[in-house]
Formats: sequence, structure tokens, C-alpha cells
Amino acid sequence: MSENFERCSKCKTVLKIEEHGFGGPGGKDSEPIFCPKCNNLLGESRTSGWWHVVPANQEEVKDFEAKENTPPWE
Ligand SMILES: [Zn+2]
Repeated sequence: MSENFERCSKCKTVLKIEEHGFGGPGGKDSEPIFCPKCNNLLGESRTSGWWHVVPANQEEVKDFEAKENTPPWE
């Protein structure tokens, strides 16, 4: 299972995006990713399963914000 973190551009919630159900046969489709809080469309990403989006917990938000505030060259 892979997971990603993203901040909703609309309600600013940090979201955990998990990929589920892959490993089976069949091609990858573009599946939309919606914010569970405000239904904002975050984007589309290809998956052979589906995206499960939940608000990140406190610790995950802290990690996300630490990375967000670190410039890529540091
Ligand atoms: Zn949102």
C-alpha cells in the first residue's frame, strides 16, 4: 500500500491519500481524488485500485508541515 500526503487547497486540511486494491490484473485508470471534508477535487491519479482519502492525524500533519516548510535545497 502506498500513501501520500497533500493539503487541500480549499479547506487547508492535510489529507492522507492511500492507494487500495492494487495488485490485481487489469490496466490502470485515472481516478479522481476528492477532499473528504469539502469535496474539493484535489486531482486525478492513475491507479489499478482506488484512492482512500482521510484527514491526516496530528503526527502526520506535523511531519507534513515540517517538509512543507523545508526548501527542497536544504
Ligand atoms: Zn477540502
